[in-house]
Amino acid sequence: MDYDKDCIFCKIVHNEIPSTVVYEDDVVKAFLDITQATPGHTLLVPKKHVADIFDYDEATAKAIFSRIPKLARAIRDSNPNIKGMNIVNNNGKVAYQSVFHSHFHLIPRYSENDDFSMHFGDNSKAYSPAKLQQVAASIKANLEG
Ligand code: 5GP
Ligand code: ZN
Repeated sequence: MDYDKDCIFCKIVHNEIPSTVVYEDDVVKAFLDITQATPGHTLLVPKKHVADIFDYDEATAKAIFSRIPKLARAIRDSNPNIKGMNIVNNNGKVAYQSVFHSHFHLIPRYSENDDFSMHFGDNSKAYSPAKLQQVAASIKANLEG
């Protein structure tokens, strides 16, 4: 399905509801996130309705991923106070996805105390080399193509 009539980002893509656009071409659109977690917080979406990362065809994946560096550089260069950037893609409610049209958050970072944070737990003590091999093998067994 290219357009989902119940999807807020499909409505933004088709200009049925307003957004503050920073980039647009045939296949993707980028607009400011309404919350502005940090100034310049931007969302990059495929124009086609793709629910999440698991739902991409290869051409749409190529299109969206290939635009990220160019957009990231433009955001960085828009403000001399930007020191770094987090690029975040949430998939599934458990992973904090709230809009089920795939999107990449580009979140410029100004300091460790700006209004964005992430937590990576460290469970390395629970993983022997053998256990890591076992985890990798079960992922490899499921790779497509
Ligand atoms: P998620 O939680 O799914 O990763 O991110 C969804 C994002 O979409 C949130 O950061 C939220 O602020 C943003 N968002 C939701 N509705 C709108 C809207 O109508 N306009 C814009 N510009 N952003 C929205
Ligand atoms: Zn959609």
